[in-house]
Amino acid sequence: MSMPAPTTEELTFCEVHPDRETSLRCNKCGRLMCVECAVPTPVGYRCKQCVRQHEDKFFNASPNDYAIIAAVCAALTGVGAFIISAIGIWLILTIIAAIPIGGAIGEAALRATGRRRGRYSAQIAGAAALLGGLLGGVIHAYSAIQQALNVAITQLGQQAVPPVPIEMVVNAVVQDIGLLVFVGMVTFFVYSRFKMRG
Ligand SMILES: [Zn+2]
Ligand SMILES: [Zn+2]
Repeated sequence: MSMPAPTTEELTFCEVHPDRETSLRCNKCGRLMCVECAVPTPVGYRCKQCVRQHEDKFFNASPNDYAIIAAVCAALTGVGAFIISAIGIWLILTIIAAIPIGGAIGEAALRATGRRRGRYSAQIAGAAALLGGLLGGVIHAYSAIQQALNVAITQLGQQAVPPVPIEMVVNAVVQDIGLLVFVGMVTFFVYSRFKMRG
């Protein structure tokens, strides 16, 4: 005669959320995890720590690589933005040009770092392209305004050249739609190049 087995089975809870009952375990380390903590992977559900550990093995970029990526993306986008701003081509041509240029800048940064992968490579590449591009636009606007001031001063027969007003530079950059479109698109395509690297 057997007694109805009382629930000897112990209730188990998520290791991160002790108030959530679960029997789901990470298939690598065995830790208990709730639905929110479980990450679906091609090889089954895993905990966030194991997923991150796996990714860390996959990412082999050094801090040095990040510096190189930032430098390459900022410098090349800056030069491109300066040229786009200086020649002032049609917006449609700027849009068409920005796609391969963005891809090429991303590719150059990938090659410069031996195609090593970093967790933040794409973000750093994008941010550097954005900042470098805007800086290229600012440098162009500054030098253009300075030249115009020089011409005006010479025509007035004056010697002292006044400093370039910063708000004029900012206005020139903000109103340079071609520049902004170029920098925005290059940033996007540099970022994408890193995200879908081959
Ligand atoms: Zn795990
Ligand atoms: Zn949880």
